[in-house]
Amino acid sequence: MRAALLQAHGLDGLELAHVDAPEPAAGEVVIRVETVGVNQLDLNVIAGHGPGAAAKLPRVLGIDPAGEIVGVGEGVDAARIGQHVVVKPNIPCGRCDACAAGRESTCPSQRVVGVHRDGGAAEYVTVPAVVAFERSGLTAATATAAVHSLPIVVNAIDAAGVRAGDRLLVTGAGGVLGRAAIEYAVHLGAEVTAATRHPLADAPDGVRVVVTGPSADLAAALDAGDRFDAAVDVSGSAALLGQAVAALDWGGRAAFCSASVDTRLTIDARDFYLSRKRLIGVASADLAQVRRAIDLVRAGVVVPRIGARYPLDAVHRAYREFPTTTPGKVIIDVR
Ligand SMILES: [Zn+2]
Repeated sequence: MRAALLQAHGLDGLELAHVDAPEPAAGEVVIRVETVGVNQLDLNVIAGHGPGAAAKLPRVLGIDPAGEIVGVGEGVDAARIGQHVVVKPNIPCGRCDACAAGRESTCPSQRVVGVHRDGGAAEYVTVPAVVAFERSGLTAATATAAVHSLPIVVNAIDAAGVRAGDRLLVTGAGGVLGRAAIEYAVHLGAEVTAATRHPLADAPDGVRVVVTGPSADLAAALDAGDRFDAAVDVSGSAALLGQAVAALDWGGRAAFCSASVDTRLTIDARDFYLSRKRLIGVASADLAQVRRAIDLVRAGVVVPRIGARYPLDAVHRAYREFPTTTPGKVIIDVR
């Protein structure tokens, strides 16, 4: 089969190679891949940096494939053959207390498809059956666009305890995660304020947009006296997160799921405890949240935006152009 195989770090070390199709081990399924996304994590694997440093080479890239199950390993119901699925890249260990409690996102021994094992930028991929989610009714591209981003947003909004009528601040609202957070929060009945660097072209009705400008000065963009019951930060900026925490009201909860821009967080400790605030870091998602996220897309509550698309033949270009492509999920069409 053809596969985007990373033989050495750097884009020059990436080859569209012919390799043997993988065989499923016990508990695994084989998927004939239709689409896979391009993610920052792929670039980290290519560079051998950060979370991508865990990948041993050679490694087939691709963390979030969608396709059809065409084979199963021992212990997996053969009725799953023919099922259309999408893969959540985080594989929980299935043995720890967090996994036993259904809190797979806090499993300390997670492995990641396309990092710790071969991924889905290939004609076939094997994954544990538990992370191959049924996607009936969704195209492969839409499922790929949703599966890595929306569940973490669902996790963050759950963690912040967002309820109908809550005043919710979403910071970093202009990106893929931000859009998903806004749409889901509106669905929950929250009163949403969306803070972005640049104006939002098509914010849902009823969403208040505040533009912070390139300096991300949230305090200046908000009205004096603006206070929030909850905040969800997807900006990756600790500076912005600190400002969001400052804008929380009594008992306010903030959840964040990225720290990629800057990491030095400043909060007023006295205000934080006197106002009974809480701050929760969220990564990945529980399996039940992945299923809920897929259902939200199927119901039209959240509409994943798809940006550039590339055939597998153009995989080098897909990764090279990723940092500069227009908003929306970048998709590689494998088939
Ligand atoms: Zn575990």
